[in-house]
Amino acid sequence: MAKRQKPDIEFKCEKCGSPQPKNDEKSDNNFDVFDCNQTCECGGKFCMYIDGYKIG
Ligand SMILES: [Zn+2]
Repeated sequence: MAKRQKPDIEFKCEKCGSPQPKNDEKSDNNFDVFDCNQTCECGGKFCMYIDGYKIG
C-alpha cells in the first residue's frame, strides 16, 4: 500500500461541508491562507480536516 507524502489538508464547513474560500488578500501562489475566524454562509464554522479527519 502506497503512503502519501503529503497529508491531504482541507478547510471545510463543519455543518454543510462546503470548502472554505481562501483569503485572496493574504494568499500567494505558493501558500493558501485561510482566515480561521471566517464563518460559512450557512452559519457553520470552518474547520481543518486532514485526510478527512477533523482537527481541533
Ligand atoms: Zn456551511
